[in-house]
Amino acid sequence: MSLIRRAVLAAVLSALTSAAARAAVTGVVDPPRSPRNANYTIAARLDPATRTITATETIAWRNITGHPAGELQFHLYWNAWKNNRTTFMRERALAGGSQSPRAADDWGRIEVTAVKALGRDLTGAKRYVAPDDDNPNDETVMLIPLPEAIAPGASATIEVAWTAHVPRTFARTGAIGNFFFIAQWFPKLGVFQDEGWNCHQFHAGTEFFSDFGVYDVSLTVPDGWIVGATGVQRSRTGNGGGMTTHRYYQEDVHDFAWTTSPDYLERTAPFEHATLPGVEMRLLLQPEHAAQAERHFDATRTTLKYYGEWYGAYPYGHVTIVDPAWQSGAGGMEYPTLFTAGTRWLAPSHVTTPEEVTVHEAGHQFWYGIVGNNEFEDAWMDEGFNQFSTARAVAQAYEPNYLAVRYFGGFIPWVFQDIALQREIDGNGLPGYRRNAKSDGAATPTYRYFPATGGFITYSKTALWLNTMERWLGWPALQKILAAHFAAWQFKHPKPQDFFNVVNATVGHDHSWFFDQVYRSSNAFDYGIQDLTSTSDDRVYHTTVIARRYGEAIFPVDVVVTFENGERVTERWDGVDRWKAYSYDRPLAALSAQVDPNRVLLLDVNYTNNSKTLAPKTGSAAQKWTAVWTVWLENCLLSWAALI
Ligand SMILES: [Zn+2]
Repeated sequence: MSLIRRAVLAAVLSALTSAAARAAVTGVVDPPRSPRNANYTIAARLDPATRTITATETIAWRNITGHPAGELQFHLYWNAWKNNRTTFMRERALAGGSQSPRAADDWGRIEVTAVKALGRDLTGAKRYVAPDDDNPNDETVMLIPLPEAIAPGASATIEVAWTAHVPRTFARTGAIGNFFFIAQWFPKLGVFQDEGWNCHQFHAGTEFFSDFGVYDVSLTVPDGWIVGATGVQRSRTGNGGGMTTHRYYQEDVHDFAWTTSPDYLERTAPFEHATLPGVEMRLLLQPEHAAQAERHFDATRTTLKYYGEWYGAYPYGHVTIVDPAWQSGAGGMEYPTLFTAGTRWLAPSHVTTPEEVTVHEAGHQFWYGIVGNNEFEDAWMDEGFNQFSTARAVAQAYEPNYLAVRYFGGFIPWVFQDIALQREIDGNGLPGYRRNAKSDGAATPTYRYFPATGGFITYSKTALWLNTMERWLGWPALQKILAAHFAAWQFKHPKPQDFFNVVNATVGHDHSWFFDQVYRSSNAFDYGIQDLTSTSDDRVYHTTVIARRYGEAIFPVDVVVTFENGERVTERWDGVDRWKAYSYDRPLAALSAQVDPNRVLLLDVNYTNNSKTLAPKTGSAAQKWTAVWTVWLENCLLSWAALI
């Protein structure tokens, strides 16, 4: 690196670092990174005894489309928990969720008491709509007709007042004892697009979508209660009557969540890195977990480091990690600059360790927080990317490297090799996907996936096809793709085709045939060996291998035939026809035939049919075992090479 380049890099780094340091204490992002067209100033007061929130908000909204807006649409998410007739509760029943009766006080609701826009009181005009299923009992979307349309490029001030009842936790939001976790809690505008308002009802299997802006939120809670929230605390003012107002501020985010409890322990620690901006980590911990602070910080550092190096820098300078109360049901969820650790919500249940949950939820700061896809329609674009990234980051940070470096000086013995492959399979969700591969096409809008199995498509299938791309194109190529996507779509709302375009542009050729299968169809991949025969005519062995495509989906695969002398023949099959025969005349018989021996196609739903072996026909047992060990060792080295 030249001196000049070094100086430029140093200047860029110090600018980055000082901007991050400023952002860490002010919530300011300078220069602005997002369109900031939906800005919320909120004042809310919590009465813990009655679990009531009374609040007002002023929204400064700008129409950034080319079309006039003749109405406003708001999410009122908490009305999903009003009774058993809402779309959320009906879908939850469909998914087999708990139907146990709830006390009246355990339900949640939000009631808008006043709406003003364009200087007019529009409260009387409000009505509920159900764009997704026409359910007349669903009140999660509120429509306000406007007396005159807001023109393209024009701004409007909207004032809303509301009261809400905090439920016993639903979908990560609610209260238990004096622990409150308050998310999706304010009347939030949908996203106005050229096609109109994108404002879906609250569904059991999907999450959220909103525009970027500036949040300035004042939260009034009892004196002495600890508050954690999106952004940074700018002031804390006692206002008599035993209540204190905490004012939080954050720029360039698309949501705001908060929590309060008198019981939290508070810890802080820095994330430092040679080339990435620093991040102040604040941890709000349950007293009984005091000993786990470092595990939370280490897992968050893992995310900030690997996601930062692979995709792009975390720009906010601070992050709050919340360890929710036992049995609160608030764990495992992400909000801008704040996330909860604990157990996962919608993901398949195979991810169990606290580290994986923390890495995953911290990872959503990148996929969803910064790159803001529509989680109602394309949840795979954050959940799948994040599941893949979590498994990869955890593999880098914890196993097998940890064990290998600690005990074996960097050499990975074969027992850990198997663990590494298993971890990759589990981490990417293969077992669950295998059972549910055809449950929905990925291109179906996520809110229309079958509620009980949608997660296997959203999370696992996406993670598996990304992992397949890594094994097929190599990590440097896939990392370049994901970094290019992150760079192009941060602080914006990408759609699936935007990602496919990034792939094609980055790799330099058209991969539509791949996405037609993994995204636009629900077809499954299943290659196998149907037959392996080796017959002798006294002179030579005639070996025949029949490889099969049992699944509908197509992918090029290798077929490897191993002979008794250890010779391996690799055939490259385009995988298009339903079957392919290979024949060989050799002095020795074949021992085995295997399709996709390196497991490039991690989406293969049945791996047990991928190989056939024959009993040895000639030679000693020692020769046989030499051949087997050679094959096995080569496999190990190849898989290992793919992992490092
Ligand atoms: Zn997630």
